[in-house]
Amino acid sequence: MIVAKRKPFDEIKDFLKDYKKVLTAGCGTCVAVCLAGGEKEVAVLNAELDMARRLDDNPIELGAITIERQCDREYLEALDSMVGDYDAVLSLACGAGIQFLAERYPEKPVFPGVDTTFIGVNQDVGWYEERCRSCSSCVLGLTAGICPVTMCAKGLYNGPCGGTNKGSCEISKDQPCAWYMIYERLSKQNRLDNILKITPVQDWQNQKPRTVIQPGYKTSENSAEK
Ligand code: SF4
Ligand code: SF4
Repeated sequence: MIVAKRKPFDEIKDFLKDYKKVLTAGCGTCVAVCLAGGEKEVAVLNAELDMARRLDDNPIELGAITIERQCDREYLEALDSMVGDYDAVLSLACGAGIQFLAERYPEKPVFPGVDTTFIGVNQDVGWYEERCRSCSSCVLGLTAGICPVTMCAKGLYNGPCGGTNKGSCEISKDQPCAWYMIYERLSKQNRLDNILKITPVQDWQNQKPRTVIQPGYKTSENSAEK
């Protein structure tokens, strides 16, 4: 899932200082699961903002809505009849959801309430760990399911580097070397020949903005997948 964390409160408050009526929009998918931008977080943030603005003698009227997904047009329709009643929107979705709102309501200022951080996994309640940077050229098939882009301190597609030391990365003895882990797991699977295969360097220049069109959905208009 996409993992995000709430922005510092003062930053959010500053975004909204000139607005009297703001709609806080949560997203019910990734950011809800990682406890950053779901229904509960919308309610908590609105309560904090309400209190802070009263103390500043600059009251604010806050609306709240949490939709299934802000990154999906189908669900944005639920906002259409509400947004016009507000001076601005505060979105607690990931960066993609925030941009989708801003694009749909170009006359309305849309502010981010979270910092989108990474694609990760849930290790425990409230504890998330990065696992993927959506590099668009997945090498997990060669690396025994361990992502070197996120797990190796240098993001090396081909490793290990000379800093690997008895299973630890050169940056810290407490940081496991990703390529050591890859070696160990490939060895267990009798697939060590994979570590000798060279993965070409990424052409990062072609990265932005990338698109994905699944097979079966390509048309002459949308076939320019990047
Ligand atoms: S190699 Fe790593 S960053 Fe790239 S797609 Fe696979 S998991 Fe994601
Ligand atoms: S020691 Fe291992 S994890 Fe650390 S930078 Fe080198 S290859 Fe990557």
